[in-house]
Amino acid sequence: MTRTALVLGAGMVGVSCALALQKRGFTVTLIDRREPGRETSYGNAGVLARSSIAPLNNPSLYGKLAGYLGNGHPALNLSWRRALTRPGWLLRFLWEGRPSQAAARIAALDSITASTVERHRALMAEAGVAHRLRENGTLKLWRSEAGHAAAQAEHHFLKRHGIASRLLDRQGISAVEPHLNPIFRAGLLIPSNASVDSPGAVTAAYAALFAGRGGQIVQAEVKALTRQDAGWRAATDKGTFEAGIAVVALGPWSGDLLKPLGLDPRLDVERGYHRHLKPEARATLSRPIYDVDAAYFMAPMEQGYRVTSGVDLSFRDAPDAHRQIDGVTEAAREAFPLGAVAGETWRGARPTLPDSLPMIGEAPGNPGLWLAFGNQHIGFSTGPITGEMIAAMVCGETPPADPKPFRPERYIG
Ligand SMILES: Cc1cc2nc3c(=O)[nH]c(=O)nc-3n(C[C@H](O)[C@H](O)[C@H](O)COP(=O)(O)OP(=O)(O)OC[C@H]3O[C@@H](n4cnc5c(N)ncnc54)[C@H](O)[C@@H]3O)c2cc1C
Repeated sequence: MTRTALVLGAGMVGVSCALALQKRGFTVTLIDRREPGRETSYGNAGVLARSSIAPLNNPSLYGKLAGYLGNGHPALNLSWRRALTRPGWLLRFLWEGRPSQAAARIAALDSITASTVERHRALMAEAGVAHRLRENGTLKLWRSEAGHAAAQAEHHFLKRHGIASRLLDRQGISAVEPHLNPIFRAGLLIPSNASVDSPGAVTAAYAALFAGRGGQIVQAEVKALTRQDAGWRAATDKGTFEAGIAVVALGPWSGDLLKPLGLDPRLDVERGYHRHLKPEARATLSRPIYDVDAAYFMAPMEQGYRVTSGVDLSFRDAPDAHRQIDGVTEAAREAFPLGAVAGETWRGARPTLPDSLPMIGEAPGNPGLWLAFGNQHIGFSTGPITGEMIAAMVCGETPPADPKPFRPERYIG
């Protein structure tokens, strides 16, 4: 049982944990009910978000709340039933956004995003998918005149944290992305961000790399996780699996297997949607754009132009609510010459803790049970460093980022 590990969940976070443990000599079994990279790690916007260092619930959210609560803004769809059934979570989420917490949380996010592109570049080369990486930044765009001030404020904020960006006016935007319709007044090009043309394929390629190095991938539904004398046991619909340690990396489902162990990580979800659209004529975008006023990403993908929606705060398993994705599909058509929708509308759920930071560490009172989830809006970007942090801590090494802000004890007593 020594140096054996079960990794539960084969999204970007779980696959990264599996690779990092394997690199340190562990015999790893990676278990997922689907093929690797078919859930949240499939449907995201594919942005390697070096610049995402401001937590979603920052002090500026308070000023926007009134505009959001009536469900008139594309950034948020709030199910009042969910809010009233679980008011504690939402209140804690708002409370964690208070000004006194901002600097520490920005520093924490900075520590896990700083090496995002470098880590993915190395893994993509090893996995033979380097051609999927675009290192030409992301472009944030504002339609209104007020966008100039907002772009400037963000430019200065990023500069204070050592992240370069370039302010653009209407002409500058056209020079960078000539096929965008001229509806944007201000832009911010962030060259240190990168993107991929298929996050699902990249996650699958990392899983194939793990398997190629001798790792075992099991497609099975995990029903329960229990402690053994010398480790952990996962009961699945395909039998039981045992190992010295277990890593829970089940994304938005991570809480389900922990609750029977008496552990409540306060994990909730922010649902989101995507659609693919074909471009009209020969229109092209060379990098993901974020339309601030209409609250969507549009990213060039293998399957077409992927438009992703804002946050849907409904119960994780409730039926789809298409108000936001319908709205942003129309808004995207104003920005760029798009034709027909290709394929189905996809729904996923960003795994979120109230302080917008992931949980990375050993579960209190449960030696050998490691938690790696809650990567919220940037889990595709931060999966690799999450895996390295877990594997380093398991082996008693110094992790590549200070683990304190991510310790499970902040929510699990
Ligand atoms: C619309 C949208 C856009 C986004 N855009 C970006 C972006 O541009 N950049 C970025 O960095 N992040 C983005 N994100 C966030 C990112 O996608 C997530 O943070 C990340 O994918 C989470 O990865 P994960 O491995 O934790 O979870 P997942 O990828 O969901 O993996 C969890 C795995 O657990 C498995 N599982 C669950 N329960 C069981 C069980 N009982 N038994 C067996 N297997 C089980 C699932 O099948 C799944 O494969 C976006 C998210 C959304 C929704």
